[in-house]
Amino acid sequence: MAVRNANEKNAKGKAKSTRTPSGRAVAQRLESLQRAGITHIPKAAQTPSTAQLPDADRQTSGEDLEIIAAEVAQCVRCEELAQTRTQTVFGVGNPHARLVFLGEAPGADEDREGIPFVGRAGQLLTKIIEACTLSRDDVYILNILKCRPPGNRNPSPSESDNCREYLNRQLAAIKPEYICCLGSVAAQNLLDTDTPIGKLRGSFHDYQGIKVLCTYHPAYLLRNPPAKRMVWEDMQILMAEMGIELPAK
Ligand code: SF4
Repeated sequence: MAVRNANEKNAKGKAKSTRTPSGRAVAQRLESLQRAGITHIPKAAQTPSTAQLPDADRQTSGEDLEIIAAEVAQCVRCEELAQTRTQTVFGVGNPHARLVFLGEAPGADEDREGIPFVGRAGQLLTKIIEACTLSRDDVYILNILKCRPPGNRNPSPSESDNCREYLNRQLAAIKPEYICCLGSVAAQNLLDTDTPIGKLRGSFHDYQGIKVLCTYHPAYLLRNPPAKRMVWEDMQILMAEMGIELPAK
């Protein structure tokens, strides 16, 4: 904002004698700044949403996600997956998200679209995110594997190992504070444990300094709707930790 322009507006206001006490204080402040030789005041930075970055440091991502995505698109480390995939499914969302949702691998819909969580389970995930007063654009959504295993089988240990470098680089670029693992495969794979999802959920774990909350996969909720209550309990724990207030139900 230019001080000169503000003063011109204030001068017009003075002529009409409509200046309020707070307006007078602003005008006096601007005049004293001008006397001090300050002619411009920078615009205030836009306040990030609660789900986005809290500080400027996080705006400086380690590595550009687009560079990693270009590398992933050419990857043939898993011979079978590279031959059978339609395309790689890298991830989608806010590159500075505080919260990342992590699934296991793309399914048929995701393989076709190139976007994670777009099928029926993905639509349910979107509803869960929106129930948390967020949108898919506030968070980042990605998978352990970037390629669809044929027949939607679970990722093999060697495939998970092959793809871990990309996941770690994505996380290093995004710098999330929280990871929400969706389902036992993602949770056990990330945390390198055999503990069942029923025991992993409900409390926080750690992955490279990032707080991890595990919950059921939306596809499981489609088969077992009563489990939605437990996922909602997990989301309440997560949102409370993130300082995001949920509407009373
Ligand atoms: S799953 Fe990951 S490591 Fe394997 S081929 Fe796809 S991108 Fe490469």
